[in-house]
Amino acid sequence: MAQERYLVIDVALCHDCNNCFIACKDEHVMNQWLPYTEEQPRHGHRWMNIQRKERGQYPRIDCSFLPMPCQHCTNAPCAKNFPDSIQKRGDGVVLIDPAKAKGKKEIVDSCPYGAIYWNEDLQLPQKCTLCAHLLDDGWETPRCVHSCPTGAMRFYTLEKAEFEKIIASEKLEAYRDKGGWNPHVFYKNLYRYEKSFIAGGILKGGECAEGAQVSLKGVAPEQTTNYFGDFKFDSLSPGEYTIVVNGKDAKTVKIDESLNVGSIEI
Ligand code: SF4
Ligand code: SF4
Repeated sequence: MAQERYLVIDVALCHDCNNCFIACKDEHVMNQWLPYTEEQPRHGHRWMNIQRKERGQYPRIDCSFLPMPCQHCTNAPCAKNFPDSIQKRGDGVVLIDPAKAKGKKEIVDSCPYGAIYWNEDLQLPQKCTLCAHLLDDGWETPRCVHSCPTGAMRFYTLEKAEFEKIIASEKLEAYRDKGGWNPHVFYKNLYRYEKSFIAGGILKGGECAEGAQVSLKGVAPEQTTNYFGDFKFDSLSPGEYTIVVNGKDAKTVKIDESLNVGSIEI
């Protein structure tokens, strides 16, 4: 079986340093990698687009970062709608042909992820190429992966069956694959961006209650509060949850997004 290209991004390890974004600019701005792509404009394009989300309320907040290049979909809507201009390679890389796509601004709207950008100067739709010009030249990773200092990005060239074992063992997920597009980009710890938490603190006699047993009834097992009496349940969907403290129902909350419930006196 043929080997395919896969990109894995760990949301929990991304610190928004933007090295990947800058590496992409360094590789593609003022560089023409034909026939793969024309040069990327200095401004406006974010082939590696780091999305940001703040969760919770002060002081119980966290920030998550989701680097999002073209997802190199197996069932790519862009390639389906513009088969003459966009090619899906055998290794999974999706490429916009710069000669055939010239002048076709409508290609930008064919991507459900918003990963295609319009180059006004060149009258060209453009996006992440997965650095196919480097891969075809023997590089083992694209520039963005090579530049990540935290190891948040990994790149694999594997047979599909082999990569599926990694998906299963690391619980990798595709990002908002609402149409069965089957991306070649997978995320680890995606809950940090897509799900919510309930956090709070337990007080006893006005003091932080370290060592209290807190659970979410029927949903999450007991955890022990830390030195500050704090607890945090993550990876929750919208809904109603009952916080149980030391075996007693303490508070019921309904959430649409992450919530700091404040202090609960016991
Ligand atoms: S993410 Fe968008 S541009 Fe990339 S392959 Fe999928 S549909 Fe095409
Ligand atoms: S794979 Fe290459 S083209 Fe795609 S975002 Fe990374 S550096 Fe840019």
